[in-house]
Amino acid sequence: MEFRDLKKQYQKYKLEIDAAIQNVVTNADFISGKEVGELEKQLAEYVGVKHCISSANGTEAMTLVMMAWGIKEGDAVFVPDFTFFSTGEVVSFVGATPVCVDVDRDTFNMDTDKLERAIIQTINEGKVIPKVIIPVDLFGLPAEHSKIREIANKYKLLILEDGAQGFGGAVNGKKACSFGDAATTSFFPAKPLGCFGDGGAIFTNDHELAALLNSLKIHGKGENKYDNVRIGVNSRLDTIQAAILKVKLKAFINHELDDVNQVSQIYNERLSGIVEIPYIPNGYYSSFAQYTIKLNNKKIRDGLQANLKEQGIPSMVYYAKPLHKQQAFSYLNYEDQDFEITNKLCDTVLSLPMHPYLTEAEVNRVCGIIQNYILQLKT
Ligand SMILES: *Cc1c(COP(=O)(O)O)cnc(C)c1O
Repeated sequence: MEFRDLKKQYQKYKLEIDAAIQNVVTNADFISGKEVGELEKQLAEYVGVKHCISSANGTEAMTLVMMAWGIKEGDAVFVPDFTFFSTGEVVSFVGATPVCVDVDRDTFNMDTDKLERAIIQTINEGKVIPKVIIPVDLFGLPAEHSKIREIANKYKLLILEDGAQGFGGAVNGKKACSFGDAATTSFFPAKPLGCFGDGGAIFTNDHELAALLNSLKIHGKGENKYDNVRIGVNSRLDTIQAAILKVKLKAFINHELDDVNQVSQIYNERLSGIVEIPYIPNGYYSSFAQYTIKLNNKKIRDGLQANLKEQGIPSMVYYAKPLHKQQAFSYLNYEDQDFEITNKLCDTVLSLPMHPYLTEAEVNRVCGIIQNYILQLKT
């Protein structure tokens, strides 16, 4: 069994994907080919925003937004503690200070009460100035965006939605990657919508921001890339990746998103009452980048993972180490007791095999092993 089966997906769409790749190769249109613009248009339409700017990967997509907003030393950016390193990395990369915020134990997303407290504390300390909130749509579930918007308005902060795992999710029909002043996603192969290498995109309704991002991602170009009006980077999505993504976006919309939600339902039915299953609040729709259960403690979690492994079932701990404990951030001197929930989650979460091509028989097998393991603990 695969944790996320990318081979099955390729086999199903092999003819279309191979033809799309071959077409780019035949035309030798490798950089900024027409597929890139076509994909950007389709992505913007799907998400429901005016502009999509593709980039080399999800991390650079976020860095580009930080650059475009002029975030720099002396600025504070609020990030959830329970996330992939990138979310905090991009803040430090531009010289600003990532302020980690503990998360909600049920949704795994940023705790909005603790967010407001962190903003107030940062203002009172007066060392760095609050500028941006980066909510993460973790494991496919959109963050509490309406509340985060209220807080952002109250303290005049910008929102960058990190939708690297959230693409395809929604709140009351409004799609993930449409909530921030800007939002980003990643097309890393294992993400909800993945390509065959690295890729990413930025979404925004802000016309001026979009123009600035389109310049920054190509060496700060003016009229063309040999007319350079500002310092930028080189962060483009390859035409081959765009061509692949055009095929995969169709599959994603037509059935993959439904299928992965179907798989989550089967998991829920088999596992509820045995372990703690993912919580999806009313009105929320997850793209299930991960299906993450909670166990009572680290011993049981690690034991279950070992037991699954022995029987050929891959599982992952996302995340074993929170941002505030990363050595790279040790200079920030975070207080460990501020992250009670995240610390607990790092010891108790386990992500199970999850993808649109998982069969009911496979889910049954995973759940059978979990059920047996939990039952024998009680005897
Ligand atoms: C994967 C991921 C990123 C970074 O995306 P890359 O394309 O790998 O650079 C950023 N944030 C989160 C939450 C992610 O999961």
